Amino acid sequence: MALVTCAECGHRMSDKADKCPSCGAPPARPGIPLRLIAGGFIVAGVVLTYAIGLSGDSIPVVGPVLVAIGIVALVVSWFKR
Ligand SMILES: [Zn+2]
Repeated sequence: MALVTCAECGHRMSDKADKCPSCGAPPARPGIPLRLIAGGFIVAGVVLTYAIGLSGDSIPVVGPVLVAIGIVALVVSWFKR
């Protein structure tokens, strides 16, 4: 467990807390936002699908899988706040 500082009121709270015990604001999530990671997966998947499709070497399955993971992560990040 680590303590984070509330962005709204400066109160110290657990990073596991759903909201600040002082003002009720949600805690700032440390690290890279899930939404950014999801976007990276989607972009990488689209680029990979396009690149493999151009080369025509194999069935481009890795790209769509990356896009699918990205979309799932994006949906999760929307509902999980
Ligand atoms: Zn607060």
